[in-house]
Amino acid sequence: MPYTADPKFADFIQRLPKTETHLHIEGACPFSLLQKLDPVKYASPPPFWADDFRYESFNQFMDMYVEYCAEFYNSAKRYQEAAEIVLKKCVDQGCRYVETSFHLPALLYMEDKGPDVIEAIRSAAPESLELRIFAGMCHNDYVDAGKELIEDSLTWEGLDGIDLHGWEDIPVEPWTADVWERARKAGKFAKAHAGEFMGSDFVELILDQLKVTRIQHGVRSTENQATVQRLIDDNIALDVCPISNVKLAVNGIPSMDKHPIRQLFDQGVTVTINSDDPFFFGNSLSEEYYALNQDLNFTQAELVQIAMNGFKVALISEDQRAAYLKEVSGYSEAEGVPR
Ligand SMILES: [Zn+2]
Repeated sequence: MPYTADPKFADFIQRLPKTETHLHIEGACPFSLLQKLDPVKYASPPPFWADDFRYESFNQFMDMYVEYCAEFYNSAKRYQEAAEIVLKKCVDQGCRYVETSFHLPALLYMEDKGPDVIEAIRSAAPESLELRIFAGMCHNDYVDAGKELIEDSLTWEGLDGIDLHGWEDIPVEPWTADVWERARKAGKFAKAHAGEFMGSDFVELILDQLKVTRIQHGVRSTENQATVQRLIDDNIALDVCPISNVKLAVNGIPSMDKHPIRQLFDQGVTVTINSDDPFFFGNSLSEEYYALNQDLNFTQAELVQIAMNGFKVALISEDQRAAYLKEVSGYSEAEGVPR
């Protein structure tokens, strides 16, 4: 890392219509905005951009988040400034559809309200981009003002969905299943992080309790074949972030060539690839495609399939889905990619 590709392959990936369905807006914080605010503090590139950098733990990752980005996101305006750069970068890489999440409890520390932040992010989206906005919350956020905020969020019209994130090893509390159920009733799409820092049992617990159809990461499902089979049988999709998994030293992933996305894909699990927190991993969506090609021998045809999976799981009308899928297959055919 970082990954580069020969110009022909890079051009192929660039023009392949793609999606990004696992992108934390705070974790995508544009460094240029931080530098503008404090040129002295942010004079040199962050240490985690070094080629061989790997986080020692999720706690270290969260410490970096606090050190670099937490203070930045203190108003709807800041979210808009960041989203403008982040979403333009998505479009510049050939993204047609993006799902981004913001950290819901961040609202507890700002004057602007949830709908203001959602509107700010939405207003930053280039016209050609389909954008869906999610509110992310941790396992232990349903307390005091956080509880009110979570309840309130279910009424926000502009909010497309909710996501469970943060530390996986904090117990999943009883409120969660109830909130996820009521979110669905309120027309929100509900997904959850699992199977990144906890194993396949946790993926099963999340499927049992939250009844989600999309898992963020889920890569440790391969620790138990029965869990993988469940993902296939119940048509559960995984929004995978391969470079993130390597940089965060996820259990069982010592290097990209050992990443379980190869096994998951080969066995027929619906997987998408995404950049997660590109500021903290120094990655881009294109590099995720290069990584799969270079270290896991994904062919062009297989990468086309991965791009198609993104549109298959996207929260769009069936007409839109058919149009996107036709566009991808038309592109693939025109490029002479064998089926
Ligand atoms: Zn994530």
